[in-house]
Amino acid sequence: MKNLIIVLVVCSKCGAHLGHVFENEYGPGTRRYCINAVCLAWQEEDKIKRFE
Ligand SMILES: [Zn+2]
Repeated sequence: MKNLIIVLVVCSKCGAHLGHVFENEYGPGTRRYCINAVCLAWQEEDKIKRFE
């Protein structure tokens, strides 16, 4: 598979492995997130802390 980039996702606080992001897996510009569900938390939209 050409141009497949796999990005390791880790916790910014402790370095724990959270999952991977697969760039270009389904074609140029596509991105598939494969994140452990245990790492996810639901929040009200107005309470989301955004990182820019
Ligand atoms: Zn952590």
